[in-house]
Amino acid sequence: MLVKRPGWVPFLTCKCPKCATGRVFNNRLISVKFAQTRYSCPSCSFSFEPEPGFFYGAMYFSYALMVGLIVTCCIIFYGIGKFDYAIVGIPIAIVIMVPLIFRYSRMMMLYIVYPLMYKDKFYGKP
Ligand SMILES: [Zn+2]
Repeated sequence: MLVKRPGWVPFLTCKCPKCATGRVFNNRLISVKFAQTRYSCPSCSFSFEPEPGFFYGAMYFSYALMVGLIVTCCIIFYGIGKFDYAIVGIPIAIVIMVPLIFRYSRMMMLYIVYPLMYKDKFYGKP
């Protein structure tokens, strides 16, 4: 069974991992409802949630991305010699990056965990 894996462009543009054209999220990134995720792809009807609570696993990716953001901010503030400003700068950076981290942690669930754990649903039964 040889199925082409989705590439980086549909991942970065938050497109469906199966057809790479349907949008995963309902609204724009800068919106109050940035978190609304579709239940299925609008163009190929691929189900984004193989089981209830599938996206709870995105918390682990979110945690990793958040730690990466905080460490990066600490390195930047230390590098410019203004480490005292980190106490204000890091919360501001977190508030700005929350929509991105939320979305890409869910995209990591769709692109990494989904094909590994739900092979039958993702690739179809052989
Ligand atoms: Zn699709």
